[in-house]
Amino acid sequence: MSNHELEIVEVIEKIKDLNAKKVGLQFPEGLKVHATKIARQIEQETGALVIISAVPCYGACDVADLDMIDSVGVLVHFGHRPLPLNYDLPIIFVDARSNMDVIGCVKSSIDLLDGYKRIGIVTTAQHLHLLKEVSVFLEKNGKEILMEEGAGTIKGQVLGCNFSAIKNLDADAFLYVGSGNFHALGIKLFTDKPVIVADPYLGDAREIEEFADKILRIRYARIAKAMDAKKFGIIVSSKKGQSRLELAKTIKSMLEDSGREGFILLLDDVSPNILLPFMDLDAFVMTACPRIAIDDSIMYKKPLLTPQELEIAIGKRKWEDYEMDEIKYGI
Ligand code: SF4
Repeated sequence: MSNHELEIVEVIEKIKDLNAKKVGLQFPEGLKVHATKIARQIEQETGALVIISAVPCYGACDVADLDMIDSVGVLVHFGHRPLPLNYDLPIIFVDARSNMDVIGCVKSSIDLLDGYKRIGIVTTAQHLHLLKEVSVFLEKNGKEILMEEGAGTIKGQVLGCNFSAIKNLDADAFLYVGSGNFHALGIKLFTDKPVIVADPYLGDAREIEEFADKILRIRYARIAKAMDAKKFGIIVSSKKGQSRLELAKTIKSMLEDSGREGFILLLDDVSPNILLPFMDLDAFVMTACPRIAIDDSIMYKKPLLTPQELEIAIGKRKWEDYEMDEIKYGI
């Protein structure tokens, strides 16, 4: 039986134990293709009515407990681990563990890790169960492996906005096991250390350096453009896992102290269209998901900065002290 099939069997047992008559299912975008098959299986094997959340799910911060509270008795959330938040429904978290071989791509990373002895290894919920195998392989190849738990994350786990699991690691380089550039870029900007991606989907390994340089250049251009801004929109998310109203209030005071204006904007999903009507605002500061400013910047006409970038723009932080914004879960 595959990992996925095993996880679904466990979910069905838990739903039966809870005697739930209505079950919510929530998937990140990449797993939604499995939604109807899983819904059918749960309905057939438990007799419960299944309601699938069809709205986008962006991360572990974005659990639909409040959205579904009046519709279901239990929510099954796929693809993420729980964060230290107070959920309003019983939630069954399913890691959606990947079955992919990781050793092939880790083998490809050996050349790129040449010259680095202490390696911090990190991944997301899907591959966490494979880190032991990765560690053993790297140790056999002469590496010293560093891994730690984070605040709200388990050993070796990073989120796009939370790097507490690597904060205290004295690593020479980091190996990120997973696909895409998203997490590796975050690790690079957070640590400023060499980061290698071992990508099991492509079966190879690559450096993130060039991509990170390109992103940093864009960030510097956005910060420079915001230096002349007088009126800022301070974006606050209504999502429980992204909400940082206290930070927004601090930013508002900081702007006012510097002779600028700040207006707090509360919203759920951030998009360029939602900000369009605020034509009199010169720039925006993001207290919701930090990655929107970093990764989606090109979609926004006006500068969209992280709180740390705003500090640079208004002269409260030096350029060389550029820092990745984090949501500090569980602190
Ligand atoms: S805040 Fe952003 S980076 Fe953090 S978990 Fe949510 S979607 Fe991912």
